[in-house]
Amino acid sequence: MSQSSNSMSLEDTVRKGPNAVEEFMAYVVAKNPGQPEFHQAVREVVESIMPVVQANPAYRKAKILERMVEPERVIMFRVPWVDDRGEIQINRGYRVQMNSAIGPYKGGLRFHPTVTLSVLKFLAFEQVFKNSLTTLPMGGAKGGSDFDPKGKSDGEVMRFCQAFMTELARHIGPDIDVPAGDIGVGGREIGFLFGQYKKMTARFCGVLTGKGIQYGGSVMRPEATGYGAVYFAQEMLAQRGEGIRGKTAAVSGSGNVAQYTVQKLLQLGAKPITLSDSGGTIVDEAGIDEEKLAWVMELKEVRRGRISEYAERFKTAKYYPGKKPWWVKCDLAFPSATQNEIDGEDAKMLVANGCHCVCEGANMPTTPEGVRVFLEAKICYGPGKAANAGGVAVSGLEMNQNSGCMRRSRDEVDHQLQNIMKSIHENCVRYGKVGDWVNYVQGANVAGFIKVADAMLAQGVV
Ligand code: NDP
Repeated sequence: MSQSSNSMSLEDTVRKGPNAVEEFMAYVVAKNPGQPEFHQAVREVVESIMPVVQANPAYRKAKILERMVEPERVIMFRVPWVDDRGEIQINRGYRVQMNSAIGPYKGGLRFHPTVTLSVLKFLAFEQVFKNSLTTLPMGGAKGGSDFDPKGKSDGEVMRFCQAFMTELARHIGPDIDVPAGDIGVGGREIGFLFGQYKKMTARFCGVLTGKGIQYGGSVMRPEATGYGAVYFAQEMLAQRGEGIRGKTAAVSGSGNVAQYTVQKLLQLGAKPITLSDSGGTIVDEAGIDEEKLAWVMELKEVRRGRISEYAERFKTAKYYPGKKPWWVKCDLAFPSATQNEIDGEDAKMLVANGCHCVCEGANMPTTPEGVRVFLEAKICYGPGKAANAGGVAVSGLEMNQNSGCMRRSRDEVDHQLQNIMKSIHENCVRYGKVGDWVNYVQGANVAGFIKVADAMLAQGVV
């Protein structure tokens, strides 16, 4: 907790809390009209940290919260490129550099038609707290474009990435801002982006993470977010005296995070039974085993196909078009696709069906109504900023590896990832324990906030 004096009684804090939240949110909404995802992310954090802010006059006087919701810099740019038919296409590119109080900006790039300034501001805001929780010195940022890589040829994706980097290169650097992947940005895209940066600057440096192993990437970066989420679930369950072995798990998405979540679940003896994409969900009651997972990885990464094909290939599975996985009976749920994919009704169904651990691989996959259901039911609910921090943590190790011109082994990275997830869990318990239950939302927000807020206080009004 900060050194700042604590002059307000708990009673004051409780009495003023809800009003202070509503007043602050009115200010945020008025200043950022038409940005619902950003409002949602800010509210979720502010509801947890307002008592801490109110109890610390130094935070209030320095307007820490008001400064935190204002990005340090937003870059928005035109991305013109030429498609395979010779036609000019125009997309919009962004980089939101949210907060650099504890380190250079760090956060992924998302290429998806749903990308807007609001979505990227929510992601950048979340990233500030997540990066703080990792214990590594990284500020928060996020970027991307409304470009849709689906259905595009490799040549089109390359030309788009080159055009995107042509502008972005001016604003990033190994000590300034180090982007990585996110939805629609995997190894292929990072390779094209890195190539263009190198060509423009004539420098080979750690300007992006998620790079291929041959050119400075870290082992286990692709696995890190999914593995980390399962390690976090393991910690939450251990807190209740339970393990993962033998548990049935529902996983959404079928991209990077979902694939490696399934892989780690299998290694730890659980039974994953679902995967999805924006078209629908497959349910495989027999379980998704190693062989089926290898097939999914090839489907998604090489053939870039749809999850519906799984049910054609494996007769134990059924495809449900337009459906999400949350109605299936499961012990554990790993939302690993996108924001707001579990609403209040989905959350009620999960709890009613016996799910008692929800661990978010995706960012903000649960709506506020859904979060309320999980908190009221007092299940193990690990919010994304804690549960999916393994990806950025291993990115931090990759940065450190690049600047020190060194290489870590798979065992070393896995060991560090497990330690980081354990320490994030401990921090959440420290600030979120309520009797014999842990409110991980409260724990993650408060732990992430204090470190950044104290660094901002120390650095003056900048
Ligand atoms: P990928 O692009 O590899 O996969 C995304 C998956 O989510 C795909 O199956 C995609 O289906 C599905 N999806 C995307 N948008 C929607 C939508 N609107 N409705 C339903 N399904 C959708 O991305 P990642 O696996 O990297 O990212 C998944 C989530 O994890 C995101 O929330 C991301 O922010 C978060 N995350 C990722 C990290 C990483 O290291 N990659 C780190 C921390 C968090 P389709 O192909 O049909 O679009």
